[in-house]
Amino acid sequence: MVDFNTELIHGAVVNDNHTGAINPPIYNSSTFAFDDATTPIKWDYARSGNPTREALEELIKTLEGGYRGFGFASGLSAIHGVLSIFQPGDHLVVGDTVYGGTFSQLNDYFKRWGLEITAVNTQDLAAVKNAIKSNTKAIYFETFSNPLLRVTDVAAISRIAKAHHILEIVDNTLLTPYLQKPLQLGADIVIHSATKYLGGHSDVIAGLVVVNSESLADKIYFSQNRLGGTLSPETSNLVRRGIQTLSVRLDRQIDNTNRVIAYLKSNDLVAKINYPSVNPQSDDFEIASRTTKGFGAVLSFEITAGYDAIKFVNSLKLFKIAVSLGAVESLVELPATMTHFEIPRDERLKIGIKDELIRIAIGLESADDLINDLKQAFAQIQK
Ligand SMILES: *Cc1c(COP(=O)(O)O)cnc(C)c1O
Repeated sequence: MVDFNTELIHGAVVNDNHTGAINPPIYNSSTFAFDDATTPIKWDYARSGNPTREALEELIKTLEGGYRGFGFASGLSAIHGVLSIFQPGDHLVVGDTVYGGTFSQLNDYFKRWGLEITAVNTQDLAAVKNAIKSNTKAIYFETFSNPLLRVTDVAAISRIAKAHHILEIVDNTLLTPYLQKPLQLGADIVIHSATKYLGGHSDVIAGLVVVNSESLADKIYFSQNRLGGTLSPETSNLVRRGIQTLSVRLDRQIDNTNRVIAYLKSNDLVAKINYPSVNPQSDDFEIASRTTKGFGAVLSFEITAGYDAIKFVNSLKLFKIAVSLGAVESLVELPATMTHFEIPRDERLKIGIKDELIRIAIGLESADDLINDLKQAFAQIQK
């Protein structure tokens, strides 16, 4: 048993090559030779299994403390693989602020397929309990919501799920196993968009799933192999390489985040900051402190009403205007016109996403340079 930081580097031992190569080889082969026509072999066809992908799947399994891991071609294809284990007529309780692509997959695809969905605020444990019906099979949510950073208690939801003999499924993209291991808190399935922190360099689209039992592993393996949205060997290797620096990157990103928050707090043009540590009296802070090792490097804030949030975002130079998060470079986006533009304005305001709300994902640059960039953009809107 080694420490998490050592697991990041050495978690998946491959040792299947005779060259002494330190890294697992990228096996660019769609098919593998049988010894003879009747003896089964471990690898036969790369959709069903590929040694490079398996190295990554073993690594994420180890990091999450699960039974088995799976590599998918994207976060959404991982989510598709997980939701496909249910049957038409099954009911799911789903967090009301889940990622837009997930919400659309549930409502525009799986509803048509016969899955019933009730969206609730998963912070409200009574609402979660009330939403459970006789055909409910799972509770699905994200630990930290995006862009408002509302925190759901994975351990408390696990107790509800266990009492009703249903599954708890957690999308833990924003925290990663460095900051929280949902399976250790009682969840059954954890999902990642590895496009974000695990990949970490804005150069891949990838998804990972880890389950806590053999029976779930069999079901997810069936989805992975039959839907066929598997992760390529090249991309599996890039995600593995990204994961090796996960904790180093997140440590710097969290330090930078705390510096940026301290600056934003001191600025009169900032009306509100969404990040668990900003209000130590809040439930968000209490739950996050109890269930995570750190609060990550995504935050959002509101510009004081009457000042121009669009001009502010357009004035930033170091922060790139882009969706996505979790990479080495800092990104900024305006949910009202970018990630959440599809939600009608009235509804969007009701769920707390104002026109003045700005989301930033902090990278590895110097905190001073990031703060100077924010300062010069605030100066632009004060003119
Ligand atoms: C980005 C994201 C997804 C979707 O992942 P892709 O890799 O873009 O398919 C799912 N959940 C969360 C929380 C995300 O941030």
